[in-house]
Amino acid sequence: MAEMHTGVGRQRGARPWPRPRRIATISVHTSPLHQPGSGDAGGMNVYILEVARRLAEADVEVDIFTRATSGDLPPVVEMAPGVHVRHVTSGPLEGLTKEELPGQLCAFTAGVLRAEAARPPGWYDLIHSHYWLSGQVGWLAKERWGVPLVHTAHTLAKVKNAQLAAGDRPEPKARVIGEEQVVAEADRLVANTRAEAGDLIGRYDAEPDLVAVVEPGVDLDRFRPLPGEPTAVRRAARLRLGLPTDGYVVAFVGRIQPLKAPDVLVRAVAALRDRDPVLADQVTVAIVGGPSGTGLDRPTALIELAASLGVTDRVRFLPPQTGDDLPALYRAVDLVAVPSHNESFGLVALEAQACGTPVVAAAVGGLVTAVRDQVSGVLVDGHHPTDWAGTLRQLLPDRSRRAALARGAVRHAAQFSWDRTVDGLLAVYQDTIADYRKRLASELAGEGAMLSFG
Ligand code: UDP
Repeated sequence: MAEMHTGVGRQRGARPWPRPRRIATISVHTSPLHQPGSGDAGGMNVYILEVARRLAEADVEVDIFTRATSGDLPPVVEMAPGVHVRHVTSGPLEGLTKEELPGQLCAFTAGVLRAEAARPPGWYDLIHSHYWLSGQVGWLAKERWGVPLVHTAHTLAKVKNAQLAAGDRPEPKARVIGEEQVVAEADRLVANTRAEAGDLIGRYDAEPDLVAVVEPGVDLDRFRPLPGEPTAVRRAARLRLGLPTDGYVVAFVGRIQPLKAPDVLVRAVAALRDRDPVLADQVTVAIVGGPSGTGLDRPTALIELAASLGVTDRVRFLPPQTGDDLPALYRAVDLVAVPSHNESFGLVALEAQACGTPVVAAAVGGLVTAVRDQVSGVLVDGHHPTDWAGTLRQLLPDRSRRAALARGAVRHAAQFSWDRTVDGLLAVYQDTIADYRKRLASELAGEGAMLSFG
């Protein structure tokens, strides 16, 4: 990592070399039109949309290519001025899992190339691919269009496989190979955190000079505390959500899958009942989100787990919430828990803190950056239910400690805005285009010299 782009203090457009006019964003397996919080839709969808909107505001048009998964949607949807989602037909509209998508990459790529071929030459200045499947498409498109490829992995199979939850399926070798190819072919790799940059370099042999760190953000206008929020508002929010109006509520928000480990919270409340039954009877665990990935195999597994541990009465399940409903939910609960086995960043942690709710998170991956231990929340080592129960037991009854963490949470989250992310990305885009064009010019000069020799 010769240079780390954190976006801090950078002025949009301050660089002397060209900024892109139009970029092609590739998101094969999940669309920013999908509701995050279940299936394959999560933080990456939020990231792509928030970034695209702000790039368009900075006069960079964004076309987001994604696979068509419904006959109801038109081929092109304008999400905001300058931001278009382009649906590419590749395979059946319904019924394909993410694991089956590698077989559709050729059809998807053909659709992307066809769409670009209908434009005047040189339409896109740069490609930004998200997740390895998109990286494969970007690799071919970059060769065809003669533009650079910026790639963000979001998750890495080697990292995921090293931290698998018990019973979770390892990522297949084909993905590992596919990721290695994209790392080797991309002109720049954007990592969400220094830890991810280290993984790209250490586990995937990425060229350190080509790895840039740009942290994701949070919409600080939407996710914010309401100072002096009256208890009545919080009470009303809990009532609306079907949560108890008295007692403590600890929320898990996200896709229900073994990697995200909502089971840790269910086990923790059971462990708490063993140690402190009076407190445990005042605690409700709210699990917000829908099943995803291997969680789909047994969507009822958590309900069964709660029943087997005798804590059914302490656990509530809520469907995925829209981005507009989430702030009220975060503000209505006492703590948000992120017990993931791995997390490339953890937008939920940032959003909750921005709303003034402290976060208890596993000390893994990007969560170590997203949560400032003992200042904006608490990081827990490992996933042992007793440790998690111990943390809940310390924090929940201690109102003044939680209030201090809540203040720290708002301050910490305030450092992460999407504007800062977009500033960082624009700097990466500009550097990448400049390097690419310089290389092209020197290759052409070399060819010219060869010709004059000949
Ligand atoms: N999310 C949502 N509704 C839900 C649950 C989650 O909109 O019911 C959003 C949440 O606001 C966050 C994203 O989904 O922006 C999850 O991102 P995160 O980085 O926490 O996890 P990922 O899904 O990327 O693994």
